[in-house]
Amino acid sequence: MTLPALASSTRAELEALTVRFGQPAFRAGQLLDWVYKRYELDPDRMLNLPLKLRTELKSGLVCRSTRLERADCAADRTEKLLISLADGEAVEMAVIPAPKRLTFCLSTQAGCPVGCRFCASGAGGLKRNLTAAEIIEQLYHGIGRAGRLPDNIVFMGIGEGLLNFSRLATALDRITEPDYIGMSPRRVTVSTSGYVPGIYQLIELGKPFNLAVSLHAVDDITRAALIPDRLRCPLAEIRRACDDYEREIGRMVTFEYVLLAGINDRPAAAEKLAAWARRHHAKVNLIPYNAAVGGFKRPAEVDILRFRDILKKNGARVTLRLEKGAKIAAACGQLRAWQEKKDDHDSN
Ligand code: SAH
Ligand code: SF4
Repeated sequence: MTLPALASSTRAELEALTVRFGQPAFRAGQLLDWVYKRYELDPDRMLNLPLKLRTELKSGLVCRSTRLERADCAADRTEKLLISLADGEAVEMAVIPAPKRLTFCLSTQAGCPVGCRFCASGAGGLKRNLTAAEIIEQLYHGIGRAGRLPDNIVFMGIGEGLLNFSRLATALDRITEPDYIGMSPRRVTVSTSGYVPGIYQLIELGKPFNLAVSLHAVDDITRAALIPDRLRCPLAEIRRACDDYEREIGRMVTFEYVLLAGINDRPAAAEKLAAWARRHHAKVNLIPYNAAVGGFKRPAEVDILRFRDILKKNGARVTLRLEKGAKIAAACGQLRAWQEKKDDHDSN
């Protein structure tokens, strides 16, 4: 029998557990407070609980299902954390401090089934979905480094969260419900490669999460060269889903666009993207390609700036982070690849 995980337990589950251990119901409230308000998963540190209950918790639950394996700090103070899972898989997350806000970038899957040709995360396919607890524990590892809850959470690490929808939805619930962690959904961004059925499932949740859609192209032929057929949805359907998201949820979407030299960085593409952004009230997030897989090239800086300027001139809101963008979002999957190489080496 697999034990339930502490980091995603509901109030009802914790109440049932404390009753099973012969404890009064208010103990569940104390436990909830430790887990979701004080971000503590180690029963030995829950000092207002009786010793017997602390011991029982350790045998009745998986208190921690992940471990911080390694932390790499970049010059801009961004930290990339390698998190290992109990079965030997690993994922990455990033802690991104900026003068005005602290952002955590979290993973939703070990590997990714979409397999975008420029992305290290998808290169080995999907290893497995993360559990809700494994998603939430990344947040706790980040809090352990930064000392506080982030201002923003973006699901832009490894994996396509909308293809692990039920676990992602559970994690989103614990992160945003006032009884649990209680962050505002407006501070949480779900990024998708444009998986339309998942966008509609997110709409069903009815909460004002931010939706970021990785477009990367303004025509289906160019896009087909970047994203394999199996899980790629047509641009027209993606745009319809974006309209529905804005109408139902009342939030404007963001278009993400990885700039690849000679592929999607022409002025005509910038003009069309600007028209789409205006029409959808969307902000465009330009991400210059960061060397990973697939033999693509990052455009020269002058071409990147020209692309951005055309967007701006045509009335689109644009963000371009030349430094951070390249080092963080884009480097997703690379620490994990490092770990796999190391494991191969260690086992030889
Ligand atoms: N699967 C989701 C979220 C994770 S990827 C998605 O695709 O949106 C987060 C972002 O990183 C995506 O916009 C993705 O296109 C981008 N990305 C992946 N590999 C990259 C690379 N080598 N260089 C730049 N951006 C990359
Ligand atoms: Fe998966 Fe996103 Fe990488 Fe594409 S870009 S392979 S969807 S993680």
